[in-house]
Amino acid sequence: MTVVKASASHPLYNELLAIVGQDRVNDNQVIISAYSKDACHLVADRPGIVVMPNNVEEVQKIVRLCAKTKTPIMPAGGRNGICGACLPRVPNTVLLDMINMKRLVKLDEEVMTVTVEAGMRWAELIHILEDRGYKLGFRGPYGGNAATVAGSVSINSMGYAASKFGPAPEGVVSLEVVLPDGEIVRTGSAWNKEAQTFTRYSSFADLTGVFLGDHGTLGVKTKVTLKIYPKAPFSTYIDLGFKTLEDATAVLLEIQKRGLTEELNCLLARESADTYFPGLLDSHPGINATIHSVVMETDQQLAERKVQIIREIGLEMKGKDIGNFAAQIHWAEKFNEVQPMYNNGFWLNTCHLRPIVRLPELMNRMRDIFKKYNLEKNGIKWIADALAVDRAYSAAWVTIFAPTRDKMEFAERAWNEMLDAAIETGGCPYWTGLLWENRALKKVDENFIELYRTIKRAIDPDNIMAPNVFQGGY
Ligand SMILES: Cc1cc2nc3c(=O)[nH]c(=O)nc-3n(C[C@H](O)[C@H](O)[C@H](O)COP(=O)(O)OP(=O)(O)OC[C@H]3O[C@@H](n4cnc5c(N)ncnc54)[C@H](O)[C@@H]3O)c2cc1C
Repeated sequence: MTVVKASASHPLYNELLAIVGQDRVNDNQVIISAYSKDACHLVADRPGIVVMPNNVEEVQKIVRLCAKTKTPIMPAGGRNGICGACLPRVPNTVLLDMINMKRLVKLDEEVMTVTVEAGMRWAELIHILEDRGYKLGFRGPYGGNAATVAGSVSINSMGYAASKFGPAPEGVVSLEVVLPDGEIVRTGSAWNKEAQTFTRYSSFADLTGVFLGDHGTLGVKTKVTLKIYPKAPFSTYIDLGFKTLEDATAVLLEIQKRGLTEELNCLLARESADTYFPGLLDSHPGINATIHSVVMETDQQLAERKVQIIREIGLEMKGKDIGNFAAQIHWAEKFNEVQPMYNNGFWLNTCHLRPIVRLPELMNRMRDIFKKYNLEKNGIKWIADALAVDRAYSAAWVTIFAPTRDKMEFAERAWNEMLDAAIETGGCPYWTGLLWENRALKKVDENFIELYRTIKRAIDPDNIMAPNVFQGGY
């Protein structure tokens, strides 16, 4: 941040400067502008100042300073969210950019865990582990080149290998968190300084869970310990095609129940397959929905047999084997697969969770909206993609792309109806942020939100940590 001179007008500028030095604190409006958005178009308050701690001691000092002066803090990771979660909701906020804290702290091969600092990015961690003969369970959101481990576990991210291992928080064994008073808590077996960090569940209640998915409202995560597994060098792939979305859904559920795949991605509809993989279905005119499966095993025969079983299930249940191109590309491209979709225009997403059985219901509602707005004629492309998660549910992404600025307002009208439809058909957002929060809060059970507020008041009595997020203001 050195090239742009700080304006030094934020009330805490001098004290923050004393903690981190000139290179890592800035309140110049050029810097502030760069930090005023994440990867979506939604806007909130601009941060008052940006500070980049290098270690947990600095985080503690910054948090203590904010606690003493009752100054709001917003922790941020890769700022790669697509729901505005890391954007401040109140003026003068100290935005805590965690990306300098990205070291590998410990790879404990005896207990099969890896501990990293909060700002470690998924893509980097995967490569480090691969070189040492390991893999993660959940392997990061599709934006994992930029997204950080702490950011993803703070907002329940979905993504690569969720089909087998569940969402980002499911892989967490322990957290180190700087609380709003500057004290540190270590969860799971890490509470015992003599113990290895080997389990999340021990000795008393699961305090790790309190901080998972908290959208940064209960503390600053400084370290995350994740489960690791032996590297599985043998991969097999299959693409299946179906006449109807209902048939594809039934097969997706059956494969998923049997736990056969590392990754199972159902492109719900022909039109979205065409957007994802142009030409893939050109020689399959009768196919209207596809499934793409990836198997990864430590043994080649096992990998081959599993893909055979998937094929058998698919063929028995009205499917057609259409090769393995899309599954291979999807897996090999990892974090680079989704970015090129921005070529279709600005991305308006409806990412949420739902049982696999309720995918057709969602799609019928979405199709009605597409028809009402005549999206195709208006040059607005869409994708409808369901990523299977943990046995019987899915992360559903129905996304439309506004191709030009002048189409944005029109696209947003359709999009708002799509967001309503997702909730009305039983969808539950994984992250909320500016995108989902108001819709979720309209429906949320009063006891649920009241319990959250009670916890928030107890941990953060001055409401300095991400104030107003999920109605955490009081
Ligand atoms: C091309 C693309 C593809 C994407 N694909 C997916 C996908 O498949 N699945 C998915 O879930 N998302 C996806 N996203 C969104 C994004 O990648 C994820 O939500 C990701 O988990 C955000 O991580 P981050 O580090 O960027 O977090 P940020 O956006 O920086 O922050 C997210 C939240 O975490 C909090 N936070 C961050 N760091 C900390 C910390 N150290 N302590 C406490 N709280 C903290 C913030 O306050 C905020 O509430 C995609 C985005 C893009 C641009």
